[in-house]
Amino acid sequence: MHEFERQFIIYYAQRMSKEENNKSLNFIEAMIEKDIKDNTYNGRVHLRFPPEPNGYLHIGHAKSICLNFGLAEKYGGKCNLRFDDTNPVKEEVEYVDAIKEDIHWLGFDWEDREYYASDYFGQLYEWAVLLIHKGKAYVDESSADEVAAHRGSPTKPGRESEYRNRSVKENLDLFERMKKGEFPDGSKVLRAKIDMASPNMHMRDPVMYRIKHAFHHRTGNKWCIYPMYDFAHGQSDFVENITHSLCTLEFEVHRPLYDWFLDNIIDDPEVNRRRTHQTEFARLNLNYTVMSKRMLLQLVNEKHVTGWDDPRMPTIAGLRRRGYTPDSIRNFADKVGVAKRENTIDVGLLEHCIREDLNKKARRVMGVINPLKVTIKNYPEDQEEYLDAINNPEDDSAGTRKVPFSQTLYIEQEDFMEDPPKKFFRLSPGREVRLRYAYFITCEEAVKNEKGEVTELICTYDPASRGGNSPDGRKVKATLHWVSGRHALESEIRLYDRLFNEENPYQCEEGKTFLSNLNPDSLIIAKGFVEPFLKKDAQPFRNYQFERLGYFCVDKESIGDKLVFNRTVTLRDNWAKISQQK
Ligand code: ATP
Ligand code: MG
Repeated sequence: MHEFERQFIIYYAQRMSKEENNKSLNFIEAMIEKDIKDNTYNGRVHLRFPPEPNGYLHIGHAKSICLNFGLAEKYGGKCNLRFDDTNPVKEEVEYVDAIKEDIHWLGFDWEDREYYASDYFGQLYEWAVLLIHKGKAYVDESSADEVAAHRGSPTKPGRESEYRNRSVKENLDLFERMKKGEFPDGSKVLRAKIDMASPNMHMRDPVMYRIKHAFHHRTGNKWCIYPMYDFAHGQSDFVENITHSLCTLEFEVHRPLYDWFLDNIIDDPEVNRRRTHQTEFARLNLNYTVMSKRMLLQLVNEKHVTGWDDPRMPTIAGLRRRGYTPDSIRNFADKVGVAKRENTIDVGLLEHCIREDLNKKARRVMGVINPLKVTIKNYPEDQEEYLDAINNPEDDSAGTRKVPFSQTLYIEQEDFMEDPPKKFFRLSPGREVRLRYAYFITCEEAVKNEKGEVTELICTYDPASRGGNSPDGRKVKATLHWVSGRHALESEIRLYDRLFNEENPYQCEEGKTFLSNLNPDSLIIAKGFVEPFLKKDAQPFRNYQFERLGYFCVDKESIGDKLVFNRTVTLRDNWAKISQQK
């Protein structure tokens, strides 16, 4: 990322938070308020979040969850959770459970309104029969290839199927036999009889039902015909009395079809007038990120990541394991807002939101990722002492803790340079620095191994500088973090970076796939040391700021004496720092 982009994010984020108190309504809120005023739905506001249980939820879904549940909260309405489980082949109970866990974790609740499109299979079947009775649906025996070939193109009308005009009686008979399981998969479909010349391809006699002799995670083997998503979605909204059905933009062209189904199913004009209305908004896209479920599934299946909850994944489970908090994600969704046109949000804004939240909440501790041994030669070998450290300068109620100090310490390798350039103010031979909360130390000598690498620093300390305070007003230009060697806990520290190197990972050279854009350095595992306080305190998913290094959280694989930390995010935007240095 370039510096100006970073500045833009900061400016954008600041502007957004200023506007928060004084925000004008977005177009969806304006619509809902108008409907309340006009009494369109007798004052009701009823939304739904409709995931298909064919994968884990990602940050894009989080935006949709925050939008739907958030609007219900804001207007004293309700929001249902509805699983759109019309495709038994790709759906699994594991996904249903994960989706529920993620929504609850974000802080939303559907109460007792957990619904499944499969609850409506019986009703949908009856409606399909009704449409056949009305001469608005027919059984087609053309092959899938023929159906596709006859559809035409946006500029060329399609061709009517030879089965289009069979009698109602024949259609009823065939559809019933499809349901009874008399025909093999793919041999027949039920299609809506609309208009093969419609400029909207979705209106060219779309398929309503297909034959799939497949086990469904809820209905078992009861059905061998399954409704298409398009035949189920609008009607499910109708059954649940949804007032505002929010979808992403790609469904805008499906809306006339949803309306056509409902227009032909509902006879009562008054019911029709008050039925669900669909509104589209732009999906969330993030740079350096893929959000297609197909691609996320491929990353998991081909083991480019360790699972759906790999901390590099943009899934809610991955973000949680990475150390993201519900507040940071809700805040992000709010800052992004809703738009009517597709756009791509800088992933830096998401990182900004977690920094902002953890800065307020995370306890500060000291940890060293790339340790360099320091021996304080004028500090007695058998002595140790406990120094006061502030837990969170942003939160006085967090209090203080004791940090042990002893003769042998670890500091960060990169805080020492034997031959420092002009602007390097940290440790080098002869230089004095402050150890945070501890003492001023001066480097006397760098010990090297036979390869010439520095393996240890011999230093002296000034006992008069206890607490890190200057004894005589003399100044040092750097303050370093450190841990006491004897007391430190060895731990595995997983340093995560962006999963993709390319801003737009979907774009790749000819003959290659999005996988060619994977960042080979997205995970670096370090063996580091952390202060002993963490031995008891480190519970899985707990967040910390490692002073000067970034925000880290305890991984779920951290058990007993084995401590594992995930880096959530660095303190500042390193990508910006790198481009500044160039
Ligand atoms: P796919 O089309 O790959 O199955 P999907 O992302 O559409 O995936 P669904 O489970 O159908 O997945 O999505 C559930 C809800 O989340 C839908 O209402 C959808 O519009 C919304 N949604 C999905 N992706 C995004 C996104 N990137 N931004 C905002 N909303 C999204
Ligand atoms: Mg979908």
